[in-house]
Amino acid sequence: MARLGTGPVVVLAGGTGGAKLARGMLDVAGDDLVVIANTGDDVEVHRAHVCPDPDLITFWLADVIDERGWGLRHDTFAVMEGLRALGVDVWFSLGDRDLAIGIERARRLADGGRLTDALADLGASLGVSARVLPMTDEPVRTWVQCRAHWTPFQEFMIRAGAAGPIQNMCVRGIERAQPTPETLAAIASASAIVIGPSNPVISIGPILSVPMMRQALLDSRAPIVAVSPIVAGAVLKGPTEAFLRWAGHDADHAGIAACYDGLIDGLVADGAVGGLPVLQTDTLMSDAESRRRLASETLRFAEGLAA
Ligand code: GDP
Repeated sequence: MARLGTGPVVVLAGGTGGAKLARGMLDVAGDDLVVIANTGDDVEVHRAHVCPDPDLITFWLADVIDERGWGLRHDTFAVMEGLRALGVDVWFSLGDRDLAIGIERARRLADGGRLTDALADLGASLGVSARVLPMTDEPVRTWVQCRAHWTPFQEFMIRAGAAGPIQNMCVRGIERAQPTPETLAAIASASAIVIGPSNPVISIGPILSVPMMRQALLDSRAPIVAVSPIVAGAVLKGPTEAFLRWAGHDADHAGIAACYDGLIDGLVADGAVGGLPVLQTDTLMSDAESRRRLASETLRFAEGLAA
């Protein structure tokens, strides 16, 4: 399709909905794609630095994502099995090659390296030409409060099975974080900015709360559109509904639009919403063709808003 301009298409993404849209966008925008990924879900475990959202996006872009929805296809789990045999409580499971990625990343970070560079080299090693950028190089961590008890995000999701009721959430360290030069440059030169259909509160929320990030997006001349993660009236995966309600929004397209009030120029959704331009289309991404179609329609919509 005709492109909006010369700058990159920038996608903001968490791990599942946003990653699938990013894969469709790769078909449409080619190498001129930059994905800014949430790092609030990062976790240090098994001596590895694990970046669930950036890694998932990278695995999707490299076409090596496993069908279970995370990790590398054909990975083995010998280390986790070995740890369990030793009586270790393995609450966070990683495939062997996935573990290698996290261990090497932990080493690089401990040596003073930047997360941006570690992710760039991972992408290159998997043959990904598009760029996956962390929202910041500083360590920030999402925590969730339930029953008066604060829990790191991965423990809330995996150990507690994302069971609420959610009383509060925060992104620790966010006030000391800043967007990377790469992130700011991509946003400033973007031809279109697309907020992927990820959880607006715990996946996109941390990205938008990096100091200066929101202003950088608003300062960009590119149109900003969001794709709703609500499909046929429901959330497809994860605790999006619970977090939307905690944030005071309904779990519908209007609730998604409200999360991005003042930021987006338009919304892509499978139903009507008042108050802003909406592209109504099928937003279920079940295969390569539907991912490509949604990415293409979303860019065309953004192009119309830029005109
Ligand atoms: P997480 O980091 O794995 O929790 O993933 P995200 O925050 O990126 O994505 C979770 C959201 O993705 C949920 O709200 C889902 O409804 C949404 N989602 C998953 N698959 C699709 C899809 O095919 N289409 C759309 N529109 N949303 C999807």
